[in-house]
Amino acid sequence: MTTPESLQIPTELLPRDGRFGAGPSKIRPEQLAALAEAGSSYLGTSHRQASVRNKVGEVREGLGALFNLPEGYEVLLGNGGTTCFWDAATFHLVAEHSQHLSFGEFSSKFASAVKEAPHLSEPEIITSPTGTHPRAVTTEGVDLYALTHNETSTGVMMPIERPAGATGLIAVDATSGAGGLFVDPLQFDCYYFAPQKSFSSDGGLWLALCSPAAVERIETLAASGRWTPAFFDLKIALDNSRLNQTYNTPALATIHLLASQIKWFNDNGGLAFSAGRSRQSAEILYTWAEASDFATPFVTQSRERSNVVGAIDFVDGVDAALGASILRKNGVVDTEPYRKLGRNQLRIAMFPSVDPEDVASLCACINYIVGNL
Ligand SMILES: *Cc1c(COP(=O)(O)O)cnc(C)c1O
Repeated sequence: MTTPESLQIPTELLPRDGRFGAGPSKIRPEQLAALAEAGSSYLGTSHRQASVRNKVGEVREGLGALFNLPEGYEVLLGNGGTTCFWDAATFHLVAEHSQHLSFGEFSSKFASAVKEAPHLSEPEIITSPTGTHPRAVTTEGVDLYALTHNETSTGVMMPIERPAGATGLIAVDATSGAGGLFVDPLQFDCYYFAPQKSFSSDGGLWLALCSPAAVERIETLAASGRWTPAFFDLKIALDNSRLNQTYNTPALATIHLLASQIKWFNDNGGLAFSAGRSRQSAEILYTWAEASDFATPFVTQSRERSNVVGAIDFVDGVDAALGASILRKNGVVDTEPYRKLGRNQLRIAMFPSVDPEDVASLCACINYIVGNL
């Protein structure tokens, strides 16, 4: 007897690459080939010597070009991923009082880190219903506004804009947005992310694009005498970054894969190319869902629907979890929704590495599954 789980999707409908996870996300075969080729001259060599430091330099310069960073902006990096950067920011980016837009699992976390820091005042937290984003409110005494470019748990993106008249730093968690969404560097002071999403590398590293004001804040707080564990010390990170190094040993493969992806973006036209691919994928996904009689985009406002992570709701008669498990058995993986959201939903990452044609194939696969259950 055939069970729903044994449903075979015809090969001609399947995407060429079945990885749609929100992170770690699809790594292009060309990146892996480049890493293998660099093999014996790069992997297994000292991170304090030229071959690795040049690669870190390539990453820093490449990001400067990709984001068109104005004069004086600097690219910092360190170990520990975005979660570590939040803790570092509680020491060396928030002076005293911060405001946080909290609209999902990830954007709530930096707020929690600040709340628990005994040396900072109670943060101002602005929330909005799940599937939307709040807006920053210019407030006296706020020295850092914490925004999130893309809330990965709900598939909501927001434009990055300095609130009118705000004097505080604009710090943006762009972990899933960076590289896949357009951004104007004049609108932020610190745009930080990790490379396992749009940059198709592995986790464990953080990168931060810092304006002169953010660099000055780091230097001021580091000189203020505030006790800071060395691992979270952004002045140490700044000094090491300027030498194309990290404070402690980084994962060399991660840096190499990241450098390949930045080069791919820049060689093909920069952010217009990379974010353009994600926008194209998103158009395919949401157009399909809107036309479908069993699927709808979860985010109701079309301008808030993410170009990099799409959340799609299904009608009661269609079991999204079963669909995700059938897809998985057919080699199409990680379409499950964010676990804590608890909806009858699929979540589909559309980072620049994902081929827009593969998103179209995925939609066809879902149609096939629903039609054959
Ligand atoms: C994935 C993600 C994080 C967590 O990144 P780590 O490198 O695992 O700490 C934080 N914020 C957002 C928006 C994310 O998508």
